[in-house]
Amino acid sequence: MPRRTKIVATLGPATDNERAMTDLVASGVDLVRVNFSHGGLSAHGRRIELVRRAAERAGRIVGILGDLRGPKIRIERFAAGSAELREGERFVLDVGHDPDGGTDQVVGVAYDALPRDVAPGDTLLLDDGLISLEVTGVEGQRVTTRVLAGGTLGDQKGLNRLGGGLSAGALTDKDRHDIRLAADLGVDYLAVSFVRTGDDVREARELLRAAGGSGQIVAKIERSEAVTHLEDIIDASDVVMVARGDLGVEVGYAELTGLQKRIIEIARGHNRLVITATQMMESMIHAPVPTRAEVSDVANAVMDNTDAVMLSAETAVGRHPGRVVRAMAQVIEGAEKWQKSRPERTRADGHFSRTDEAIASAVMFTANHLDVKAIVALTESGSTALWMSRIRSDIPIYAFTRHEATQRRVTLYRGVYPIDFDVVHTEPQDLYAAIFARVQAQGIAAAGELIIVTTGELSGVTGGTNSMKILKVLPAA
Ligand code: PGA
Ligand code: MN
Repeated sequence: MPRRTKIVATLGPATDNERAMTDLVASGVDLVRVNFSHGGLSAHGRRIELVRRAAERAGRIVGILGDLRGPKIRIERFAAGSAELREGERFVLDVGHDPDGGTDQVVGVAYDALPRDVAPGDTLLLDDGLISLEVTGVEGQRVTTRVLAGGTLGDQKGLNRLGGGLSAGALTDKDRHDIRLAADLGVDYLAVSFVRTGDDVREARELLRAAGGSGQIVAKIERSEAVTHLEDIIDASDVVMVARGDLGVEVGYAELTGLQKRIIEIARGHNRLVITATQMMESMIHAPVPTRAEVSDVANAVMDNTDAVMLSAETAVGRHPGRVVRAMAQVIEGAEKWQKSRPERTRADGHFSRTDEAIASAVMFTANHLDVKAIVALTESGSTALWMSRIRSDIPIYAFTRHEATQRRVTLYRGVYPIDFDVVHTEPQDLYAAIFARVQAQGIAAAGELIIVTTGELSGVTGGTNSMKILKVLPAA
């Protein structure tokens, strides 16, 4: 059985050479993330070029996710490159301070509204919560704090407020610019950072479409406001990301695990996709093997039914990007063995609004009750495969499509695998013969085994799937 849960790896300096990229692609990575937070246009273009070439050479299909920086609020820089903050001491955040002139007592902040958005008693978190401050006073452009937990604070570290509420809008000018860039680069998925409501997601989608991009939209759940508007955001997006780095800082890390499970469940219930992200194999930035806690974290995300797990610094700046992906793949396979297919959400008393949804449900019900080796979905947009993959099963779903964009899109769908296949046959028997030849050539099923094939009118109409056929694979002629 192929691995069902997909792996997203973030690109960065560690993958910026052909050897590392070739190894990353060979490791089985399903999608790569290009992070618009770091690097300029030419860097992103080069990275995408590098991965496309490596995938082409390896004969693999790898999806591309562009990730907008969003209104991440950051401190400015220190004259000495960093500062030492000690517990109990005073530290000032000053939006009017020289951006390059931070000291052990004061640093600039690139967010003018900060003094309006905070009040005495608030807890501010720096560098993903490594350092925390309590606001003691606000005067003019200066926010005075007392250090609750100190440490070394580097340049441009992120700043959050516990409980959320720093009110920057989700799409910055840089994001609007990067959306046009993402459209030009042809990304398959575009992630929107720090969304507050469904409107942020809808706006990003409109901007991407206006720029000529056809990518799917990923809403990153990473601030408190997003948790209050979860259903609206999920409805507006194609994919949600449990962005545990910033989310853990905003809601407090003790809430994370419960939230992760809830977000995954709601998203799947709305027929949406989910990525679980951040610090999943963090120790492997340096270490050759994961900690047992990391193994457990990845396995639990698999058992929560996430579509994909994501690597950030582990692959972007880590010592062994390919090795991390291999280790993660092993952990996923180990976890999936314990998760036997169980007919779930067969919707015996539900109501379908679409034909392809009804067919997909019928297929999964059948596949889960009959000895079926594989499901072959002839698809234009991948929508039938998406419906199917929302129902838990361990039968692999192969999305047969001639469209490269669809092939790359389904790389994110749990249990779905893209196969480049063009329907050129008008007679069903010829089509089935071509499918039989293909499934045998790819080791998907052998002669004598059962497969389920779903098709539409073979007319190239999106969402037109209206039939399922249970077929015994015949030996290739
Ligand atoms: P980031 O998003 O890596 O872009 O910060 C993920 C997260 O916050 O967990
Ligand atoms: Mn984030």
